[in-house]
Amino acid sequence: MGSMKEIFNSLLLKELLKGMSVTGKYFFARKITVQYPEEKTPQSFRFRGLHALRRYPNGEERCIACKLCEAICPAMAITIEAEPRDDGSRRTTRYDIDLTKCIFCGFCEEACPVDAVVETRVFEYHGEKRGDLYYTKQMLLANGDRYEDQIAQDRQTDAPYR
Ligand code: SF4
Ligand code: SF4
Repeated sequence: MGSMKEIFNSLLLKELLKGMSVTGKYFFARKITVQYPEEKTPQSFRFRGLHALRRYPNGEERCIACKLCEAICPAMAITIEAEPRDDGSRRTTRYDIDLTKCIFCGFCEEACPVDAVVETRVFEYHGEKRGDLYYTKQMLLANGDRYEDQIAQDRQTDAPYR
């Protein structure tokens, strides 16, 4: 009985007409496709993109090598080595993030007591081989220096989108 119904429906081109009606409905609807990269969708100030390490305004790096970010990272993407400096303060000698492992969960950023490691809004980056997405401390500090204005601004806003 079921197969008779299917044959009857296929003879009437019912599925085809159903599909055409959906196409027709969206043909006249307001277009929501964004012409990337010329057009971009709004972005949350909490967007989790490329990582960066921040500095204080006097140029001193914020990170105090507590390793909380390394401990909490579920992907084990962060590698930190640290040593005390001559002045007794503790700083990292190595801070690497392997972005091929990172799942952009934001836990590292949440765990950091001094707001040192952050995820920027930057998502337009790429690597052409595996090693290109292995970010060293110097690369992460350079990201922080480059995007500090936006990072600082995002930490002061209450607006969800800008
Ligand atoms: S965003 Fe998540 S996965 Fe990526 S480095 Fe931070 S804690 Fe690890
Ligand atoms: S980035 Fe933050 S959480 Fe990670 S080691 Fe440095 S101070 Fe600690």
